[in-house]
Amino acid sequence: MISVLRLGHRPFRDKRITTHVALVARAFMADEIFIDTKDEELERTINSVCDRFGNSFSIKTGVNSYNLVKNWRGIIVHLTMYGADLRKTIPKIPRDKDILVVVGSEKVPPFFYEHADFNISIGNQPHSEVAALAIFLDRFTEGRWLDKKFDGKIIIHPSDKGKDATIKED
Ligand code: SAM
Repeated sequence: MISVLRLGHRPFRDKRITTHVALVARAFMADEIFIDTKDEELERTINSVCDRFGNSFSIKTGVNSYNLVKNWRGIIVHLTMYGADLRKTIPKIPRDKDILVVVGSEKVPPFFYEHADFNISIGNQPHSEVAALAIFLDRFTEGRWLDKKFDGKIIIHPSDKGKDATIKED
């Protein structure tokens, strides 16, 4: 099971970027996302995507991130530009345990660096939690997310010209 924790969500400033973190988590094979600040509108947006495009991805907002991390029974990976090299560290992550991938927004408190089993950088330049999560999940799943079946009401068929989709009736 792959879970994602998004820290420091501010509903008015971060609506779009946190939505993108959640959409990347879902598309790139995570099973659930936790957001530290309560945001019912964000929950509705992501649940609506799951309803139309499929899968059992879940979103929970208003989660106490400190308690979640303290009580996590699997592996915790924190993505930070200060972390260890992705290429050297991914092979060390145990595959038989649940994994919690933590991404920040502004300054991440030292608690999360200290409680992570692995602090991993996606390069050592500052960029984005969306990009960091996508690249981490791509590498961690070895690209298997591309074959994930979603079985939604809307099924998009790859096409080299135009839009090709099937919409299932209820
Ligand atoms: N100043 C912040 C810090 O101290 O980490 C960086 C803020 S950045 C806009 C937001 C989040 O994106 C970070 O908390 C981290 O999870 C992710 N991120 C940004 N650049 C990254 C990188 N090079 N490697 C891994 N994660 C990165």
